[in-house]
Amino acid sequence: MSNEGAAINPFETAKRQVDVVCDLIGIHGGIREMLKHPKRELTVNFPVRADDGSYSVFTGYRVQYNMARGPCKGGIRYHPNVTLDEVRALAAWMTWKCAVVNLPYGGAKGGVICDPRRMSPSELERLTRRYAVEIAPIIGPEMDIPAPDVYTDSQTMAWIMDTYSMGKGYGVPGVITGKPIALGGSEGRGEATGRGCAYVIREAAPHVGLKVKGARVAVQGFGNAGSVAARILSEELGAQIVAVSDTKGGIYRPEGLVPAEVAAHKARTGSVVGYPGTRPVSNEELLELDVDILVPAALENVITKRNADRIRAKIVAEAANGPTVPEADVILHEKKITVLPDVLANAGGVTVSYFEWAQDIQGYFWTLEEVNRRLEQVMVRSYAAVHHEAEKRKIDNRTAAYVVAVGKVVDAIRLRGIYP
Ligand code: GLU
Repeated sequence: MSNEGAAINPFETAKRQVDVVCDLIGIHGGIREMLKHPKRELTVNFPVRADDGSYSVFTGYRVQYNMARGPCKGGIRYHPNVTLDEVRALAAWMTWKCAVVNLPYGGAKGGVICDPRRMSPSELERLTRRYAVEIAPIIGPEMDIPAPDVYTDSQTMAWIMDTYSMGKGYGVPGVITGKPIALGGSEGRGEATGRGCAYVIREAAPHVGLKVKGARVAVQGFGNAGSVAARILSEELGAQIVAVSDTKGGIYRPEGLVPAEVAAHKARTGSVVGYPGTRPVSNEELLELDVDILVPAALENVITKRNADRIRAKIVAEAANGPTVPEADVILHEKKITVLPDVLANAGGVTVSYFEWAQDIQGYFWTLEEVNRRLEQVMVRSYAAVHHEAEKRKIDNRTAAYVVAVGKVVDAIRLRGIYP
């Protein structure tokens, strides 16, 4: 994806977003400073043995941004471009996300600088187990509960659960979410981010005079979030998915694609590229296609001041974290494009993570119907709260979501008071 994105520091973006809302709702001084600083950061450098017997040192992070409202929550990302500032930004966004959907959590994030696509399963297992041991002192069901993110999955979570449990001497399923069902995972967690995103789009569409049925949709990123959002929008809501992409490139078919078939092609070949009957598009071109709904579902900083003006969708639903930079937000708002911000649009994942944690702690498990019913309730209610705030104050949805979220975090900080 574009090189320009790499130059934009996501933590600077995260801090600017906090400043915008603090100016608006009048939060100054020490509390504002707290909102712009992570509470706790851990950097770990650790050796991992490769299959050929050689060792190399990897660097990983776990950042706990804010715990005022409860234990920290947030995923672990494996990617060659992970930086401490990226993890800080992602941890900040988790804080606001958990508050927007009113989960009793603060925010955290983890990352390891590595390229999992070039590692064997046994190398990934050793890396994961060693990283888990390195961060074990600061995670736990009552302290900080990791989950999947970019290039980590339920198998990664299983290794972390096992490693943490070996250290304790008993199984601790509540230390991590996004686990396989057989280890205390929740029904519906795998598709929760995409499903939640589809629900938020469905709720927002009438407010922009759009019918989801028949709407043309482009999805950038066909992974955990994007592929499921595409499938649910198409299969359950009748939208027409006209373009999808992954790191290798994109495919476009104005008459519509069948997401389940594209997913099968990707499972077979490693990419959506080359799916029969489609035209190739680049990841950049995909963002500018003539569609009704654009779902950025990959990485940060893809909608910038360089391309925001060329976006034609009526709704941009951020299944990714941080896809839009602040300058682009201003342009999209001027163009009257409705942005469904990441902290709302992709909060379905962490919502079902919360359900998983609650089920683990109780040792009592719910049906898929129960999980999806409660997820829908949370997404519908949270969209309504954000929309209400946006209308009342005549502000964009991101700022409105931050008003809701930052307000809750500030209330918790004030009620607890500053120690000592
Ligand atoms: N990584 C996901 C996110 O960015 C899920 C986090 C979680 O479930 O804790 O929201």
